Amino acid sequence: MERLTHTAPAPSVPLVALDTLWFQVAGTICNIECTHCFISCSPKNHSHEMLTLAEVERRLAEARELGVREYYFTGGEPFMNRDMLPILQATLRQGPATVLTNGMLLRAEVCRRLRALFDASEYSLDIRVSLDGFDRESHDAIRGTGVWDRVMIGLRNLADAGINPVITVTTAAEGVASAEGRTRFLDLIRSFGFARPRLKVLSLFRIGAEEQRTRAYEDWERLTGDVLSQETLDGEAAAVLQCSSCRMVTSKGVYVCPILIEEPAARMGETLAEALRPFPLKYGACHTCWVDGVTCTT
Ligand code: SF4
Ligand code: SF4
Repeated sequence: MERLTHTAPAPSVPLVALDTLWFQVAGTICNIECTHCFISCSPKNHSHEMLTLAEVERRLAEARELGVREYYFTGGEPFMNRDMLPILQATLRQGPATVLTNGMLLRAEVCRRLRALFDASEYSLDIRVSLDGFDRESHDAIRGTGVWDRVMIGLRNLADAGINPVITVTTAAEGVASAEGRTRFLDLIRSFGFARPRLKVLSLFRIGAEEQRTRAYEDWERLTGDVLSQETLDGEAAAVLQCSSCRMVTSKGVYVCPILIEEPAARMGETLAEALRPFPLKYGACHTCWVDGVTCTT
């Protein structure tokens, strides 16, 4: 079938309100190298460096002035950042926090301290743990040998500390798209004693390592004006896209969203105030966000 050729330029998403602030708190540094990682994080990837407690506190002060409602921490692996617990403590003084982790560094002592932070704050603290399979074989095929066993220990430690995590699964995980597959994941989560299992399924972005694992975006996978008009985006449709209400802080400045941190043009400024402006949705990943209704928040 012949594909349509789109010519109208990409529309720009307005920033309706800065509700959510992301921190690339571990930079692009991770203790593993998943085959689907859309920013190709690894132990050796220093494209973005870790954030210090002082840097996060400076951003929290900016965020307070702008009325930010919630905070997310990702990487890389956030718990590789030695300041992670003090960073959470500082954040929980001004709003709810969520940490996205691969679960490998959730030692018993770390989980107890997370529980103490949660108990001491009037705001919520959510821990999101990634799984990519129902079992060791399928999970480790994506995340690496030995990862499953360590994540299972981490989940047990969370359960012992009384923390019910959100389990995130990407569509790379076999079977997760079906009702039966989701039931298997929910049963796995329940097996740790979490009476109310929390599961979030995430789409994949064809950038970074995922581009090598499967394929890159094709030219037609773009949000040109033929697909999505500026008038539509200026209306209520903008709310569907997380970039209408979020920004991402990295060691290199403020980016539009958690996905495009390796796109130089997605860097919107040094301060949050400089980043409060529209952004053109010209990337393949923007097509995935729109078509799949993706949001990285819980
Ligand atoms: S997907 Fe997450 S755990 Fe895997 S390499 Fe990337 S940052 Fe690390
Ligand atoms: S990748 Fe998604 S969240 Fe990021 S700018 Fe594009 S549409 Fe927005």
